[in-house]
Amino acid sequence: MAAQTYSGSCHCGAVAFTVEVDPSTALKCNCSICSKLGAVWAFAPKAKFMLKSGEFEQGDYQFNKMKLHHHFCSECGIESYAEGAAPDGSPTVGINLRCVEGIDIDKLSPRLWDGRSL
Ligand SMILES: [Zn+2]
Repeated sequence: MAAQTYSGSCHCGAVAFTVEVDPSTALKCNCSICSKLGAVWAFAPKAKFMLKSGEFEQGDYQFNKMKLHHHFCSECGIESYAEGAAPDGSPTVGINLRCVEGIDIDKLSPRLWDGRSL
């Protein structure tokens, strides 16, 4: 699989985006927030992410080392993406693949990421 352009949104549609991402890079994280969220993530450079709507309709939740911005819709509460930095420092967006159209989560084999130990 290669990176393709996908559309994603929160539940109510207030937050919507397009992103070029490769779903075969999917991972599940066991950290305190991801285990509660149930998200399946794939990461893309921020330059490949375009927020189409919702810039002013979302919350920004941070915890622990405050490195990630967890964006959630202030209307429906769904976290469809998060922003942070890759290990090399470049701006990166984590996409919750469950919020992306045209991806069958059950056909992916997400790698397990031990975020809890970080
Ligand atoms: Zn929403």
